[in-house]
Amino acid sequence: MKYALAFLSCLLLINCNRPQPRQPSPAPADSLQVDTAGLAAADTALTAIESKPVQQSRLDYDTTQWADIALLDSTIRIDMKYATTDNFVQEKMYDCGRCFLRPEVAKAVLAAHRELQLQGLGLKMLDCYRPRPIQWKLWEKTPDPRYVADPREGSMHNRGAAVDLTLVDAGGRELEMGTPYDFFGPEAHPAYTNLPDAVLANRQLLRETMLGQGFQPIRSEWWHFSYGKQNYALSDMLWKCY
Ligand SMILES: [Zn+2]
Repeated sequence: MKYALAFLSCLLLINCNRPQPRQPSPAPADSLQVDTAGLAAADTALTAIESKPVQQSRLDYDTTQWADIALLDSTIRIDMKYATTDNFVQEKMYDCGRCFLRPEVAKAVLAAHRELQLQGLGLKMLDCYRPRPIQWKLWEKTPDPRYVADPREGSMHNRGAAVDLTLVDAGGRELEMGTPYDFFGPEAHPAYTNLPDAVLANRQLLRETMLGQGFQPIRSEWWHFSYGKQNYALSDMLWKCY
């Protein structure tokens, strides 16, 4: 019901859809390791995963087209909202939440994460590549382009080139960003400034870190960033669960 109210109260255009809150995911305080920042380290991680036997069984996808972020760096938190009922359709849209991205996009995310680790922080992924069959399911439930991209046109998420994410501290607790994820309203806009200084600082840090790695923001969601350096095709790839 609250979603319905949010829909009614919001007349703003939102490209990437879905809703609600975050549940701080506990994690060992020492699990974020400080590392050197930069794409060189990300490159090394990307190539190294294919030589680790323990991970071979999970290389169940075309590694020339995709990267599974959890295999690049296990310290990046993954909380894919569409693998839960904590989303605006209140339904699990797929069986497990793996964060797939195009390899160049994944490298840029990893570089951002490494940079944040130098400050004792890190990234938590809330949505990554969204398979087009899932986009169809969302569209059938909410055929409103204000909230759901038409799957015939697709979105950057359907291309594996967009991320929804937030900041976490060394213990995995989300930093305060002013609104829940997928809050539909002006308070979620990056330009909205009627927020506590600490919240504005957190948003600015996330934004500057992501933009520094080649991502672009959108006007309606503080959590969304698209990687615009390359064009990628829409995809129907579905991942396996274990
Ligand atoms: Zn998004």
